[in-house]
This record gives sequence, structure tokens and C-alpha cells, in this order.
Amino acid sequence: MSTQTPTPRPGTDVPAWSATVLGYPRIGPRRETKKALEALWAGHADVATTERALAAVRARTVRRLNDLGLHAHDASIPSAFSAYDQVLDTAIAVGSVPPRFADVVGADGRVDLAGLSTIARGRGTDAPLEMTKWFDTNYHYLVPEIGPDTRFRFADDRGVREFTEALADGFLTRPVLVGPVTFLLLAKPADGSPEGFAPIDRLDDLLPVYAELLAAHAAAGAAWVQLDEPALVSDSATEGVDGLAELVRSAYDTLLTALAAAPARPRLLVAAPYGDLGEHLASLAATAVDGLALDLVRGSAPTGPVPGLDGKTLVAGVVDGHNVWRADLAPALAQLQALVPLAGTVVAGTSTSLLHVPHDVADEPHLDQRLRGWLAFADQKVAEVVLLGEALHHPGTGSDTLAASSSARADRLAAPGVVRPEVRERLAGLSEDALHRSDYAVRRAAQDEALDLPLLPTTTIGSFPQTGEIRAARAARTAGRLTQEQYEEFLRAEIDRVVALQEELGLDVVVHGEPERNDMVQYFAENLDGFAVTRNGWVQSYGSRCVRPPILWGDVTRSAPITVPWSAHAASRTPKPVKGMLTGPVTILAWSFVRDDQPLADTARQVALALRDEVADLEAAGIGVVQVDEPALRELLPLRRADQPAYLDWSVAAFRLATAGAADATQIHTHLCYSEFGEVIDAIDRLDADVTSIEAARSRMEVLPDIARAGFARGIGPGVYDIHSPRVPSREEVAELLRLAVASVPVRQVWVNPDCGLKTRGYAETVPALRNLVTAAQEVRAELASTAVTAG
Ligand code: GLN
Ligand code: ZN
Repeated sequence: MSTQTPTPRPGTDVPAWSATVLGYPRIGPRRETKKALEALWAGHADVATTERALAAVRARTVRRLNDLGLHAHDASIPSAFSAYDQVLDTAIAVGSVPPRFADVVGADGRVDLAGLSTIARGRGTDAPLEMTKWFDTNYHYLVPEIGPDTRFRFADDRGVREFTEALADGFLTRPVLVGPVTFLLLAKPADGSPEGFAPIDRLDDLLPVYAELLAAHAAAGAAWVQLDEPALVSDSATEGVDGLAELVRSAYDTLLTALAAAPARPRLLVAAPYGDLGEHLASLAATAVDGLALDLVRGSAPTGPVPGLDGKTLVAGVVDGHNVWRADLAPALAQLQALVPLAGTVVAGTSTSLLHVPHDVADEPHLDQRLRGWLAFADQKVAEVVLLGEALHHPGTGSDTLAASSSARADRLAAPGVVRPEVRERLAGLSEDALHRSDYAVRRAAQDEALDLPLLPTTTIGSFPQTGEIRAARAARTAGRLTQEQYEEFLRAEIDRVVALQEELGLDVVVHGEPERNDMVQYFAENLDGFAVTRNGWVQSYGSRCVRPPILWGDVTRSAPITVPWSAHAASRTPKPVKGMLTGPVTILAWSFVRDDQPLADTARQVALALRDEVADLEAAGIGVVQVDEPALRELLPLRRADQPAYLDWSVAAFRLATAGAADATQIHTHLCYSEFGEVIDAIDRLDADVTSIEAARSRMEVLPDIARAGFARGIGPGVYDIHSPRVPSREEVAELLRLAVASVPVRQVWVNPDCGLKTRGYAETVPALRNLVTAAQEVRAELASTAVTAG
């Protein structure tokens, strides 16, 4: 079959395609990419061995996509691999490696896997590229650093080599690059850039390099190249750019004009995943680009003629690339048919790359059979677009599959547990009061009395190091080598150790350390009804890091207390206040695959209600402090500004539903893993938590004046220990940060804590770091007391 087909000759024209996907998972079905990279980093493999392992993942991908029905010779199979991150790949390709890493660039302009890893992970005092969230997904990209002097050049041809490698295997693929506008909009100004400089100012200098890069692809035989331009669907990515629509149009005109001078050019497919292309659809349709890919799951389809679109290929993203449900194919087909009069060729596509979903439902044999019938992972989605493409061009084909997909959806909507009337009735019966606590002043007085804490109280964010021993015990439990009783015995002993350590260190509010949690979301998913968890459903979060999001398929209920036994056990071991530890409703949704049959806001309320019961049970067990973590609150923020207020309203309401049942004397904490609040600062205030801990150590408390200015009047715990690095901060360093904190925020509001949980740290650095944190707090308290005495 595929391997016997003749190699297409470069430069020949290709037939029109009927189906495609915008990208495919890069981690390999058994996380081969992750394992290969980590072997390289650990020094167990050399660069050549690692390159071969990654080439095997790529070869498997093209063959798999071909077996699933994408054609070998029409460029419908994407070449969308990346060893670490596609934005980093682009930065390297266009020669914009920051000067501190100049030595990893070879004389030929290429960067090998070792060099690429150095840029991604840093070395010594050379900080890695910053990492941040990719649109509203849980994927993270590396932020390019672009200055006025960055010298763009076509430096590294890795993408061309990967295309050539597939071609040699008999597959004419479609290389995928980050588009030039998105690349610059996602970059940050390099250090030392003048005030007011923005990387997008360099667009005119970058376009000729893209033209060269695209010409090189054409010279290698590429018929089509896909340029991803998701920044065009996001208001925050395009903030402050004047005349963007015109800029986009002229950028693509310039690019195509430059390419016209090349001996050959590939056709260009501009893809806009993750949302609605809005006004840019018209600008791009007016250019000579050959195709557009639209996200029709999150964005809308044109309903009437768009000038220029009639001559183009339109990849209609009707299959959700970002969630795991089987598509209802009949309405999807109807949507494709409606587009036929508007475009030159209509192609059935996914809304986004399949990077965000696991490989194959067949890898989850243990999942409930009925649930499996509702799911489509990457391979199933490829089959869906293939079938849609066939049905579109050959009416009548696949009618059985179309019908089966509709029945699968109907089966899901009618299955037991998808709708639980008791949950819906309880939610419907709640009044607005359920979202309100007493005034903060009243709560503060009750909490001061109940908790009797010193000024600058010290605490941690919840988790203590997840040691090899803890992981081994969990694995032994899963494998059945430990009974449930033995495992729980082990966990209690671990809690005893962690509590004793905190007492010895002198921390004021103690935690149980979270040894029972593999993951802060999965643990709750495993213990709530309405969720399923996979065994092999890995998706890339960043670099070699993969996560396994749970699947939220039905109405959520809590059949028994989840964390209460652990927190209560900790409380039985110490006279100090113990802080219970829950994951908030928005974060649980953000890090799961969510049902698509009801608004997210409704699902959030259900999760919140279950957590509200957990808070009540913690209180009943004598736990007077409860932290509800919401690190993902900002992550789900809609890309279009107009949609943000409604999101913030329901997400804040969900947090309050979870927490507002607490008594005045119960102190509610929340934790957010970042410090750039920007557009969410009001929402954080509206959470009405008694104490909010945030990341602040790396930025040296930079955010505090803003928080003070926003009138934030409740407790705030700016992190004083950067837990992302094994470095132990000195007592002096922590004390200095605390002095900065109390200089901008009234001292009665300030808490002393690390930036985030300690689960990824070892005890060797955790113990001295926490010791320094506690003694620094004591030192600053003493200073404040003596100034108060002098002043008084
Ligand atoms: N309580 C969690 C922990 O300490 C919070 C982690 C997070 O916010 N990402 O690990
Ligand atoms: Zn955190």
C-alpha cells in the first residue's frame, strides 16, 4: 500500500484534497518523544540517537494518517512535528535565537537537539525562553525575544528536512509553520529594546525570510505549506496593534509578491484555529493566498459570499480538535455542503491541530464500553474528517457511519448519569444568598479570634515533595501489591512526618502535604461522579511534559467526602490550625475534557456544589482554614474581549458557590500560580477569599503596588520563595522581599508563603528554604514590633 506508491515528483501539481487535519499529536502513542528527549537530557542518549527516535515518531505519524484515509500525494497529511515547541522551531528557523544562546547555533545556521534543549531549558545563569500559555489551551509555548536589532535570516532548515524525509518515504506532506504575524505577536521585546518597541514592528524585515523559507520548501517539492495564524482570533494577542486588518492583508500581499520572484512557490494555507477570524477573514480572502482554514467549532462560518473566497480552498474545521467527543456527522456534513457555493474547494477539517487530544480511543480498553462509544481521540477524528470529505464529494457514501455518529450522540445524551435530576433541582433551589458571606470585617474579627495567628503568618501552598517513596507506594497500590488499607496507612505516616516537620520549622498554618494526590485535578475527578480517567490519554502540556486530562461526561456529584479524612488526620496530630486543600471548579474544568452538551457555566456550578459540600464537611471535622486553588482562572479567559465579562461572572460565581457556605470564622484561602493579573484583577477581588496567595518571588513583589491600588483589602500572600528552581533562598533574601511587601501593602494583610506547591521539589532544598522563610518572617516581625514601640 502506501509504501509502494511512487514518490511524487517535486513541482508537479497536486489533486484537490477533500479532508485534512491541522496537526497531530507529537508525543508519540507511547510518549516516545518525551522518553527520547529525557534520555538525551539525562545523558543516556546522544543527539544522533535522539534524532532517530524522533524521526521514527514522524514516520509512524505519516503512515498512520495515510492508513486512516488521508492521501499520500495531495498534501493533506500535515508535517507538523516539533521536538519541543513549534514557536521555538520558528524562532530558530528565522535566525532569532537570543544572543545568550548564540553559541548553540552551528556555522550552517542549524541548531541541533542539544542546542534546542538548551534554549528551551536554560543553562547556568542563561535563563531559558519564557514559557506561556498557547491561546486558551493547556499547551505552553516558548516566547521568542525580538528586538530592533534581531537579524532575521533563513538559518535552520529543519522543517524542510522533515518534509524531505517524508517525501523519501513516499508521502507528499504539507509542512506547517507558525505564520509571520502570529510569530511576532507572540514574541516579547528583547531586553534592552527601546520604550514603545513591539516585535510586530519588525514584520517588514521578517517577511523576506519567510519568503525564502517557503521557497526552500517549494524547491524541496512541497505543494502546500500551512501557516498558522491563531493570533488573529485573539484580542489580547493583537492588543494595541493599529490597523491590524490592513497589516494582515499587506503582509500576505508582500509575502506573495516576494515569492513570485522565486523559481517555485508552494500554495499557502493560512489557518486560524481557536476562535473566530472575524474581520480578518475578509482581509485574507482578498489576498492571493490559496487556502484558508477556519475553526467552525469556536468561530462562525461565512453565510454569504466573501470576495476572493470563491477561488480558494476552504478547510472547514467542523470536527473539534480540542475536545474528545465524537462529532455528530450529519449536521457537520450539512455545514460543509452549505459552504460549497462560497469557496473554490471545500475540505473537511479539524478546528485546530489534534495536538490537544490523546492518540487513540483503542488505547483505553478499560474505559466503560458505553462511554468509549461516545469518544473520538486523534485517530478517530482523522477518520471523521476523511468520511466527511468523502460524503461531501460523493453524496451517499458513509450514510451508515453518519447515522451511527448521530445515535452515539443521542445515546450519550440519554445515558444514566448524564442528567441527574437531584443535582439540577438542588442548583435550581439555591438563592443568591448562597454566593454571599458576611462582610469581610466581620469575618476577619471571627477568624482572628478563632485562629490567633501572629502578624505575617507563615504557611505553604499545600503540597510537600512527592518523593520516590510516595510514587512507589501509589504504583504498588495500582498494581495491587499494597492493599487499600496498607496504602492509607502509608499515607497517614507520610502526613504525620510532614506535620511534624512543619511544627519543627515553626510554620503557623499547617497543611497535610497532599501525598494522596497524583495530580490536583485528576484526584478530584477520580473521587467525583460524572468523570472518567484514562490510562494512556496523554497530551502535551509543554516540551516533554504531558498530562492526562480526565473526561467530564455527566452531571457531577460527590458521593462521599474526598479530602476530609486526610485533613482531619493532620489536625489530630497538631494543635496548630490545619488548612484543608481543594481544587477549584474552574481549574477542574480547565484541566479536563468537558462535556459539550451544556454551557461550561452550568458544569462549573455542579462542580462548585460538590466542593461546597466538601468545605462543609471539612468545617464539621474541625478544619478552620480551607484553600480552594484556582490557578487556571485566567487560563479559560475567552480570546475575544467581548466574551470576557460573562466568563468572569460565571467563574467568580462558581468559586463563591464553592466557598460562601463557610462560617465567618472559617478562613477561605485561594491560590493563583501567577502574578500578572491585568484584566482579571477585579475578578480576583470578587472571589471574596479571605487570603489570596500568588507568585511574586521572581518579579520581586512587582505586582503588589497594583494590588494595593486596586483597593484589594483582604489577605495577600505574595510568594517569597521561587519553587520553580532548586535554589534555596537565604533568610536575608526572604526578609528583603517581605520588607518590600509590607512597604506596599498594610502589614495586617500580608502572609508569608512560597510561590506555589512544593511537590516538584526535594526535601534537601525544601527544608532549608522553609526554615529561612520562617526565620525571615520572625525577623521582620521583630523589626516591625520595635518600630511600633519607637513610634508609639
Ligand atoms: N495546592 C496545590 C499544591 O500545593 C496548588 C498547586 C497549583 O496551584 N498549581 O501543589
Ligand atoms: Zn501555584
